[in-house]
Amino acid sequence: MRVFVDKTKCIGCGACASLAPTVFKISLEDGKSEADQDACTRDQCEDICREAARACPAGAITIED
Ligand code: SF4
Repeated sequence: MRVFVDKTKCIGCGACASLAPTVFKISLEDGKSEADQDACTRDQCEDICREAARACPAGAITIED
């Protein structure tokens, strides 16, 4: 699984970082979310990433299997 954040859509609300702080971090440079691919190593992580994608109000998170 790979998870991506489209920074052109992200509004920096922080919902993804709250749900999955090991994967999503809000950049100090632009205030938008970034996903750490290396943090997604467990099945449990995939579930929480999918939850974050559903919770994102901007539809900025994409998950590829
Ligand atoms: S939940 Fe969506 S809009 Fe909010 S910070 Fe994460 S990627 Fe950006």
